[in-house]
Amino acid sequence: MATMRAVQVSRPGGPLEMVERPIPEPGAGSLRIKVRACGICHSDALTKEGGWPGMQYPRVPGHEVAGTIDAVGPGVVGWEEGQPAGVGWNGGYDGRCDHCRRGDFFACVTGQVTGITYDGGYAEYLIAPASAVARMPAGLDPIEAAPLMCAGLTTFNALRNSGARPGDVVAVLGLGGLGHLAVQYAARMGFHTIGIARGKDKEPHARRLGAAGYIDSQAQDPAAELQKLGGAAVILATATSGEAIGAVQGGLAINGTLMIVGAAPSLQVSPVLLLSGRRSIKGWYSGTSIDTQETLTFSATTGVRSMNETFPFERASEAYERMMSGKARFRVVLTVGR
Ligand SMILES: [Zn+2]
Ligand SMILES: [Zn+2]
Repeated sequence: MATMRAVQVSRPGGPLEMVERPIPEPGAGSLRIKVRACGICHSDALTKEGGWPGMQYPRVPGHEVAGTIDAVGPGVVGWEEGQPAGVGWNGGYDGRCDHCRRGDFFACVTGQVTGITYDGGYAEYLIAPASAVARMPAGLDPIEAAPLMCAGLTTFNALRNSGARPGDVVAVLGLGGLGHLAVQYAARMGFHTIGIARGKDKEPHARRLGAAGYIDSQAQDPAAELQKLGGAAVILATATSGEAIGAVQGGLAINGTLMIVGAAPSLQVSPVLLLSGRRSIKGWYSGTSIDTQETLTFSATTGVRSMNETFPFERASEAYERMMSGKARFRVVLTVGR
């Protein structure tokens, strides 16, 4: 039987270990992807450390998967071997439940999560339901594409659904893995994009990414600075500090929206701020495979690029630690099978 290498976790809190496994066969409705690259995301800690209810081990983490279709399961229409494809956090939906029937596929009651409810991309091959798989534009390097499957999708999809219009002031809080992509997307969508981060030293970087302005939240009051511009139609909060998010809410314009994509443990909001200006706070779920596909196409067309540190697959454990330590400024990507 042909085998592959995979990096798995055998128990919550256990190490990432390289194992040989049989290459899995795609069942009905599924595709097999030959993995070329897989990004490491903070949410991989749910698999590594435990924390997802009902998680079964051993489990292969990884939900920023880029590769090519390698085998097509029975009943799958529209895919063929050799097509560039990827999978993100959304691991597929059934199309039948009430949420799916309303078009809210992301909230499917039987919905799966890649690398959590089934084995993910820290492996040479993975099997995914066809509903989870996104087409990749030909010519997009898998290493470039991988982080766009989660970090890119999350920020692109939140921004395009934020209600902001070209010319509006849109602020991006945080310039890390999510934020450095968000600034690029916001600028290319035609928003008057303002980066907000701690320290003056990040300003040139923000401007290189396309920001029209920069606020150093250590030296300036970000809310007051945004109000000098008339207020932000949208503030996209990629930071995971409730304090940092709380400090920018006063920068919202009338009818402005604070979009939350970073999982801060808690957040203090001002009800008076909301009601006096009809402002709102909204969370955004990353998206499904069609959103990923559009993220990839937009990124390839407009030149949005993730800044990555790459590690060979064999060094997955070291790469994971690097991401979780916060020492990687942007994204960490495993190169697989090359
Ligand atoms: Zn992720
Ligand atoms: Zn459903």
